[in-house]
Order: sequence, then C-alpha cells, then structure tokens
Amino acid sequence: MNATDFLDKFERINSTENFEKKFTRNIEKTCKFCSKTTSETTFNNVPHIIPELLGKNNFTSNEECDNCNELFGRFETDLANYVSPYQTLIGQKTKKKIPIFQDRKDEKKSSTMIKSINGNPHFNFGNNLSDFNYDYQNNQLNVTLKKKKFVPINVYKGLVKIGLSLCPKKELESYRKTIKWLSQKEDNIDNIIYDIPLLLLRTRLSSKYYSKPSAFLFKRKAGISENTYRPNLCLIVYSGVLVFQIFIPFCKETENINPSEYKFQYDLFPAFVFDLDFPKDQEKIEIDLNNLPIAKYDMNFYGQVKENELIGFKYDNIIRN
Ligand SMILES: [Zn+2]
Repeated sequence: MNATDFLDKFERINSTENFEKKFTRNIEKTCKFCSKTTSETTFNNVPHIIPELLGKNNFTSNEECDNCNELFGRFETDLANYVSPYQTLIGQKTKKKIPIFQDRKDEKKSSTMIKSINGNPHFNFGNNLSDFNYDYQNNQLNVTLKKKKFVPINVYKGLVKIGLSLCPKKELESYRKTIKWLSQKEDNIDNIIYDIPLLLLRTRLSSKYYSKPSAFLFKRKAGISENTYRPNLCLIVYSGVLVFQIFIPFCKETENINPSEYKFQYDLFPAFVFDLDFPKDQEKIEIDLNNLPIAKYDMNFYGQVKENELIGFKYDNIIRN
C-alpha cells in the first residue's frame, strides 16, 4: 500500500462545507430520499448532514422530509455510543453541551464517569480501580473505558446516511437500493447479499482533534477494471479525534457484476498524515505503514456489541480530590 493511492484513485465530489446553514423555511422542497414534495409531505425538522451527536454543527439540508429524517434518525444513538468517550475527553460539544461519559454497567457496581469541567476531563473512578493502571515510569495513566452497547450495522448505516446526504441527486440515482436498505426495518436480514464488505476503517488521531465534525464524499475516478472492484463512493467523516472511512454499498453498477468474481479493493484514506508534525527543516519523514493507529472493523452484525477503549493519558502530575 502506498499513502497516496487513495488520492490517485478517488476525487472529492462534495463536502459538508457546502451545507453550512442551508436549511430554509417556506420554500418548495423535494426529498432526495423518498422523492416527495412540499405538497405531499412536511419539511419542518432541521435535518443535519452530520448528526449533532457527532458534534455541534450547522450543516443542514433542504432535501430531507420529516418522515425520512425520523426514519434515518434511528441510527444516531448507536453512532453516539460508538464514538464515546472521546467527545467528553476532548470537550467536544454535541447538541448543546459536552456529553458526560458513563461506563456501561455490566454489574451492580458504580461505574467510571468522565465529566468535562472547564474543558478538562475529570474522572470519577467508581469501584473500577482495576480499569486504571498507572505507568509511573512514563507518567502515563492507562484507562479501560467500557463503552455503552451499540449495534455495528446501525453505526454503519448511520455513516452511509451521511454519505447519501452528501451525494448529489444525479449520483444518488445509482443508490436507490441503498436508500431502500436504510429505510427497511431489520427483518429478513439473512436474505441480504452485500456487494461489498461492510468495512469501517477508523483512524485515531493523537496530536490533533476536530471540535466541529465534517464529512467528505469521494468518487472513484476510473470505471470498473479487470477483476478488482473499487466501490464508486467513499465517505470520510471527522469527529473529534476519530476519522472514519466507509464505502457506500449497493451501487447500481454492481447489479451486473458477480461479486465473487471480483476482488474487493479498498484504498486507505490517508487521515494519519494530518496527525504528523513535520519537523521544521525536514521535507520527508518516514512512515511505517504497518504501524498506524488505524483499526479495521467488519460492521455486518446486528447484535449489540460491548466494546472497550483503552486510552493512555500522559500527565505531569496527578491531583487527587
Ligand atoms: Zn423523504
């Protein structure tokens, strides 16, 4: 893999900055998802391109009716649980305030809580002292945080919804099946054959963070080639210290190819370069591509998942209350 592969193969076709304060009342609208117009349905809710649970933002749309907004809103809790506890740690505001992180309660004991006070995370250890580990030599506190349960496929669908919100109308014509997949309730799940793996690539930045979330939609530059299949659309979402990358499933073009005959090819979006601090008079730095803070997840799972985050904090000294 080469760090620039992605930028050679994909081009940016839209981004959240084009949706800053877009929402307008009392104009004629058509929903890009269900195709209903102002005369057929209502457009009273303010639909966000990126759910505010991923960070406060003004990226809004005039192309999403109230029905679709509520229908797709059902993925947001899973998304929020999935990105916790980073928002609390970096003091990122969601709708109105910085969320409090409370550990998942597996047993009947008081759980770890993190509150942001004046922009700094404050820990309440509860009874989970075993989740905390001091590395005195390196002045580091290692904490295992138990995230609230989430359903991986809902996290994935929530991200796909962001992608479709960014998707220009003409391009969206190739993703009617994707809209149907997002809209349907989770029955007959065994009958779904995916054209691409439901892969989520997650980069965790260590030296930078984005207090305002943003998202970018990329399109493959060339057509389908030989026996490799690169998905047509790729979504990148920045929220706090996390950068997510997914590909949008069910593009119309895959109806005529046999997925088993094609090798799925994904190119990694080089989010990690934003985390690098280039030394002043040095033009080049060596990157060990096999040792990046990037995790790969298969999100094709309907059950609730318990996941822990291991986070290390460097400190100068500790103040105990
Ligand atoms: Zn609609």
